[in-house]
Amino acid sequence: MRTGNIGTTSLAAMLLTVAQTAIAQQDFDAVEMTVHPVSGNVSYIEGSGGNIGLFTGDDGVFLIDDQYAPLTDKIVAAIRTVSPEPIRFLVNTHMHPDHTGGNENFGRMGTMIFGHDNVRSQMALAGYTQEPPLVTFSKDMSFHINGETVHVFKTPDAHTNGDVYIKFESSNVIHAGDVYRTTSYPYIDTSNGGSFLGTIKAYDLLIEASDADTKIVPGHGVISNVEDVRAFRDMMLVIRDRVAAAIREGKSLEETQTAGLTAEYDERWDSGRRIGSAATLIESAYAELAE
Ligand SMILES: [Zn+2]
Repeated sequence: MRTGNIGTTSLAAMLLTVAQTAIAQQDFDAVEMTVHPVSGNVSYIEGSGGNIGLFTGDDGVFLIDDQYAPLTDKIVAAIRTVSPEPIRFLVNTHMHPDHTGGNENFGRMGTMIFGHDNVRSQMALAGYTQEPPLVTFSKDMSFHINGETVHVFKTPDAHTNGDVYIKFESSNVIHAGDVYRTTSYPYIDTSNGGSFLGTIKAYDLLIEASDADTKIVPGHGVISNVEDVRAFRDMMLVIRDRVAAAIREGKSLEETQTAGLTAEYDERWDSGRRIGSAATLIESAYAELAE
């Protein structure tokens, strides 16, 4: 009898897994890739997951991030609408699966994959099944391809502990990864070394690295300029100060989260789910400022 019950439970669990896989597969089937020109030979590909940076020319294709593994064929097809050249280099802006899921597929095609040291080490610590970058660096590195210098440099720990910005010096474009997104409040992944205060410092760095004409590609969302980032940074400073004041007044985390500290920003930026919500942002600010 007991065996029968276990068998039934396992079968139910298996059917659920099959159903979930089918749903996930269907979702990926429906995803369409859109190539958005940015400047010069720099574009980004919008699909499902992080915005993919695409830089093309005679020396080959250079990519930033690669969304999810089931989307690789669609991503390659989108690249082929722009360039027939080999896909030589790929930089991961950080560790998350919606930015690294295609690593294994691209690696098999012969693409060399780069990322910060912490992307590789933190993926291992977190038990990720995605393929980590093959080549890692501690601070920064430059690619000299397609007539351009592409500078990849570490930000202060922000969204995770392995975030980098990628600047196309001549085209004047920066891909900012998930440190900067235009779809919601910043998400500080504290379980993977992210930092609220580091995120503010990372915005300072992004502002410093930009001029009035720089086009900034966010990890999720639409092309922005330095004024957009400045406004976002200023909002973070306001939230920081309000959370610090709440802590000084002896408010608990729950009281701080329900005090309406972000009221004037919520309609625009609160995602309404854990990642990108005001509550999650305040939780990460509270934890650091209460230390
Ligand atoms: Zn991310």
